[in-house]
Amino acid sequence: MLLPLFLVTILISGGLGTPVRSRPQYQTDDYYTHEEIQDYLKGLAKSYTRHVKLTNVGKTYENRNLTTITISNGDGRKHKNVIFIDAGFHAREWLTHTAALNIIDKLVVSYEENKQLLQDYDWVILPLVNADGYTYSRSGKKFTNETITCSCPCAGDLEIKCWRKNREPNKQGCTGTDLNRNFGHGWGKGDASSNPCEITYKGHSKFSASESQAVRRVLLDLASSGRGVLYLSIHSPVGEIFYPWGAEAIKAENYKEHEEVVQAGIDAMAKANFQFPSIYKQGPLYGLYPTGGTSRRSTRAVPHGQPDTDKPFGWTGLVVG
Ligand SMILES: [Zn+2]
Repeated sequence: MLLPLFLVTILISGGLGTPVRSRPQYQTDDYYTHEEIQDYLKGLAKSYTRHVKLTNVGKTYENRNLTTITISNGDGRKHKNVIFIDAGFHAREWLTHTAALNIIDKLVVSYEENKQLLQDYDWVILPLVNADGYTYSRSGKKFTNETITCSCPCAGDLEIKCWRKNREPNKQGCTGTDLNRNFGHGWGKGDASSNPCEITYKGHSKFSASESQAVRRVLLDLASSGRGVLYLSIHSPVGEIFYPWGAEAIKAENYKEHEEVVQAGIDAMAKANFQFPSIYKQGPLYGLYPTGGTSRRSTRAVPHGQPDTDKPFGWTGLVVG
């Protein structure tokens, strides 16, 4: 129980911006670009060889590397259970990469303070899934201290800043697939569009996008090895933690476990001394609105005709905060 509790806590810490202190690389005075994230990860791998391993798990449509960082305590114990976290599915949710980088920083640079979290678990983190969309989102006018409402369709600089999808062109002349509608389970159901010009375009087929394929590969590797126990995908529009299911109004078989784990995280946030009190809620994703094709349950859609992997992870969650 301590594990997810702490996990959620550090997500919030990152979300509110940890004060800059003397660290080898990581700074929080601005959002890192994709290149800066890559450099940061490489710097950690160089400085913390005993604890850190980088793996390129795929490429984006525009040929950017998608890189996971595997963090361990270096004790040589193999086959530990794994916590997998990703962030940055949606281009405009810049805060999510920062949260992921903050988790990495806490586990690697501040290892001594948090080493109990690595005693029985290895952590695999993919801090930026939609590197192309994010890079595009940063390419327009720099907004400063302005409240932006992305009630798209929008145009001009707002259209760029509010970009959500990846950057793969579609046949109809529009660009982008919503990566969090491109996964196999419940593909096309609920809040998912068949119109390539819509922001929730599901893609021309399940896993059509190279970015969602990369996440699927990581999940399937962890599922087939039996090591994956917790998957969290970080998004940022509302203060809520969701768990399966999303495509249909059905509770997950182990929903009570989900509720317990998530509530522990919410309680921890409420107790923590952050700038704002926690007002997080929890529930199955369909409670927000039915949504198919999200990454939460991606491992059910297995490639190459293999049978469904029904319960590869004990808990899967969509952290939206
Ligand atoms: Zn999102």
